[in-house]
Amino acid sequence: MKAFILSAEELGRLVTEWAKSGAVYAPVKVKDWSEFRRISSLAEADLTRVNTKLSARSLLFPQCETMFRFETSHPDKAQLAAEPVPQVILGVRPCDAAGIAVLDKFFAGQGETDTFYRRRRDKTILVGLACQVPDDTCFCTAVGGSPAGTRGLDLLLTDIGGHYVAEPLTERGEAAVKDMNEAAAADLAKKDELASKATAAMAERIDTRKLKELLDTADTNPVWGELSLPCVNCGACTFVCPTCHCFDITDETRKDKGARIRVWDTCQSCMYSQHASGHNPRLAPAARFRNRTMDKFRYTVDQVGEVSCVGCGRCIRECPAGIDIRETVERLMLALGEQSADAMQTADCKMQKAK
Ligand code: SF4
Ligand code: SF4
Repeated sequence: MKAFILSAEELGRLVTEWAKSGAVYAPVKVKDWSEFRRISSLAEADLTRVNTKLSARSLLFPQCETMFRFETSHPDKAQLAAEPVPQVILGVRPCDAAGIAVLDKFFAGQGETDTFYRRRRDKTILVGLACQVPDDTCFCTAVGGSPAGTRGLDLLLTDIGGHYVAEPLTERGEAAVKDMNEAAAADLAKKDELASKATAAMAERIDTRKLKELLDTADTNPVWGELSLPCVNCGACTFVCPTCHCFDITDETRKDKGARIRVWDTCQSCMYSQHASGHNPRLAPAARFRNRTMDKFRYTVDQVGEVSCVGCGRCIRECPAGIDIRETVERLMLALGEQSADAMQTADCKMQKAK
């Protein structure tokens, strides 16, 4: 698809148009961080920070959501929650958009479709913003992403200094900008130069290529006990993660009225894996820590064909215990690599003895 050029004024007019026919969300400055909030004009947005505190997943999979309402005397006459309004999410960073593409696989991919996610997703336009100065906690390039990645987006904007190069990626994205001027070769060259600089500035520290094979041998390695020692199982890492998707469902009633609510859950809670029998396979904090790491880098490879860490760095920034998932992966690779080298040596010895 052709790329277009947008001035800040033209982007402002687009936001005003979008806000007339639905909701527009964008990062808005809150104290020393930013959050996705509903805006009515571009002036309210803060597009200067790399990542919001919570990712855009909460706009597609809210932290607390009413699924339907009912009367306790007629639970068979439940009323589905109102249809969501169309929404544009502006200023989504490429890692977050990649996270939404992963969520799509969980909630709206093959097999069962989650109605509540699907109907929001179908009415959402994702307008991304390429990163130019990555945070020191960013590592998207280590997990297959890029500061100018387009995955999951309808439209990607790159600020080339007072103007934006707008690359449509879907028909919805193209419809939004098709009346603008086509980007000139010099604009595209500037965009590519900025993308290369941002990639070069990324403090990539981990190599996840061999992780899947190594994690297959990780079950009983004592390294989990060491890595998880500082973890207080608060769950902050799971709540800020753009790809975590576990939820709990509860019925709340008052007098004769009730509502079925779903809320985010966390594998870091000890009740998360408690069976009805009372048995809990992940009672030990280390087992819960291990589960989260394995889920990001191993289990989802089987479930949806890819790791589910997009390198946004939020869990690193928000962990009260200072746990850095990049260090976790590095130390795991080292410990498991040594373990597999030992195993190979033992096997060699056995073969030598057998001869
Ligand atoms: S945020 Fe840190 S302390 Fe809290 S559960 Fe996650 S790793 Fe553990
Ligand atoms: S595991 Fe951490 S760095 Fe990876 S996507 Fe989740 S919050 Fe971001």
